[in-house]
Amino acid sequence: MHDWIVVGAGFAGAVMAERIAAVRGETVLVVDKRDHIAGNAHDRRNADGILFHQYGPHIFHTNSSAISDYLSRFTEWRPYEHRVLASVDGQLVPIPINRTTINRLYGLDLDEAGVAAFLAARAEDVADIRTSEDVVVSKIGRELYEKFFRGYTRKQWGLDPSELDRSVTARVPTRTNDDDRYFTDSFQQMPRDGYTAMFERMLANPLITVQLGVDALAIPAAERPARMVYTGPIDEYFDQRFGPLPYRSLQFCHVSQDVEFAQTAATINFPQDQDYTRVTEVKHLTGQEHPRTMLTYEYPSATGDPYYPIPRPENEALFKQYEALARAEADTWFVGRLATYRYYNMDQVVGQALASFLKLDAAVPRTEAQAA
Ligand code: FAD
Ligand code: UDP
Repeated sequence: MHDWIVVGAGFAGAVMAERIAAVRGETVLVVDKRDHIAGNAHDRRNADGILFHQYGPHIFHTNSSAISDYLSRFTEWRPYEHRVLASVDGQLVPIPINRTTINRLYGLDLDEAGVAAFLAARAEDVADIRTSEDVVVSKIGRELYEKFFRGYTRKQWGLDPSELDRSVTARVPTRTNDDDRYFTDSFQQMPRDGYTAMFERMLANPLITVQLGVDALAIPAAERPARMVYTGPIDEYFDQRFGPLPYRSLQFCHVSQDVEFAQTAATINFPQDQDYTRVTEVKHLTGQEHPRTMLTYEYPSATGDPYYPIPRPENEALFKQYEALARAEADTWFVGRLATYRYYNMDQVVGQALASFLKLDAAVPRTEAQAA
């Protein structure tokens, strides 16, 4: 039997398996219930040979050189800065809202100080900024909030922004200059050969065995290694003892088109009328040259695979109940977006996994045969 079982072959599971094998020299069985590795970052080729992201657009960005250095062991990179347009009142304008957005929407020609004054004049005083509504109206006022944030958020989460923690819409900044990049991190690059290829290299250590299409929770405890890293939904691990933790899902609609490019921007957000939230043309992200193209539409959904934890106080309270059980669970380590119920980007999951590995390595004696 292997020394460890790692449940989930996404970022959390792959980093933990790679570290356990490479640093501790122990054997690891990685299982995933899906038929592929790389979790939600999985990419593959469609019938035309276009590399696409099965679970929606994944753009890698980080300010941590420790995290980019670690992943650089498994991939070359392609520089890529993501830009997004929002379809608002019949126009396509930059989001995050910047100087161009304000000038185009209102037919103005403001400089940076003018935009700052424009927004300050509309910003509302909010004494206690708690919700995703507060954080936006206190910066840009109600009209822009309603145009860009209220509809998108209601679609994406099935909740009004006033019902969500401020951290959700706070992910999207407001700018007074012309910077139209979605992210400002110091490192913004895509894995040159794609995410799945990077994961193949992370999991290539001969001490690691990967089994796909296997639900780890269906394996009797006696038939699997006692030492476990678990990266699935935390409530499922505990049979939803305190009730299900809410997660938000999406349906992805991938559409091929017989044109080289179908839209000018990598992603177009639809905060107003449509049922979908955004449309992404993956070739902008990967840089692939191809006479045909592919668009991915994201339709939010209450049912389906758990993609997003839903940040709000009652969910955090329920998560804390499960977290207390997790702390008391000997020999099992809970890591990743679903197991720690955190709205983390890929780099944050990698950072969390690297830190969890250090704790695990300090706490768990290495297998005798290997330590000798
Ligand atoms: P996951 O990738 O979800 O992996 C968990 C794995 O565990 C899954 O493959 C699942 O099948 C498996 N599993 C669960 N339970 C079991 C079980 N019982 N037995 C066996 N296997 C099991 N981040 C960015 O940094 N940039 C982006 O642009 C970005 N875009 C995103 C777009 C969308 C639409 C979504 C949904 C997420 C996006 N993210 C992005 C976030 C990114 O996907 C996550 O941070 C990251 O994939 C989380 O990795 P993870 O290993 O924690 O979880
Ligand atoms: N958001 C919005 N309008 C937009 C973009 C984002 O209201 O045009 C809000 C929405 O609630 C969204 C959140 O900000 O869920 C975070 O946006 P991000 O693009 O980071 O979402 P993700 O890529 O994680 O789905």
